[in-house]
Amino acid sequence: MLGVKGVFSLAGRMRAFDQCCELCDAEQADVVCSDCAQQLPSIDLASACPGCAQPSASANRCGACLAHPPPQSAVMACFDYRFPLDRLVQSFKFSANLGLVQFFTDAMVQSVQQLAGRNELSNLGDAVLVPVPLAPKRLAERGFNQSALLASAVGRALDVPVVHDRLRRVRETPPQSGLDGAARRRNLRGAFACDESLHGKQVILVDDVMTTGTTIGEAAEVLLAVGAIEVRAWVVARALQGRAS
Ligand SMILES: [Zn+2]
Ligand SMILES: [Zn+2]
Repeated sequence: MLGVKGVFSLAGRMRAFDQCCELCDAEQADVVCSDCAQQLPSIDLASACPGCAQPSASANRCGACLAHPPPQSAVMACFDYRFPLDRLVQSFKFSANLGLVQFFTDAMVQSVQQLAGRNELSNLGDAVLVPVPLAPKRLAERGFNQSALLASAVGRALDVPVVHDRLRRVRETPPQSGLDGAARRRNLRGAFACDESLHGKQVILVDDVMTTGTTIGEAAEVLLAVGAIEVRAWVVARALQGRAS
């Protein structure tokens, strides 16, 4: 039986059932009202680079991806990581507003469906979803891995298996915030390990936010080293380059 404290902490985690919008406090049943949802900075996949999700005319690979192809073959992002979308992501992660899992899952599924036919992003053949792991200390502090919750929900919605707890963070790393690209790469080198052969699998990494892509790139290299034939990434949001935080 839950004690009083348990009831309060459960109530705090079940805000999806509150009757007001997370962004404008309009009273209604959805976690984000339809007016606010329309205002969110969604990414037009027809003008995003398939390699890194940065803006690119006609969805061609951008100069940076052509000059230095990243380990991941493709990145799909639903939103630009800026106001007010950043508030939703922060509420999800730092206030355990788990009602947003379904909202973000719906956005990811919709983006995948929009990409149907563009093979490199949407082919789900032998794919498995792999959430980007948190360091054990961060996981203990937060109590949940936001990427694992997203991967589970997206996997259920699209009927794609999810491989949990095989890709691990083996090294605590200082926060990436405030580091430039080279420092981010140094910071994350050797941060991941994978315990399972993913031979012949197409792996889709799932994460909440991609900033410079260093985390996705480091994880992708480890997954390719254990046999993945291809690694793609699906993220809720990406920060525009030059504005990473
Ligand atoms: Zn609203
Ligand atoms: Zn690119």
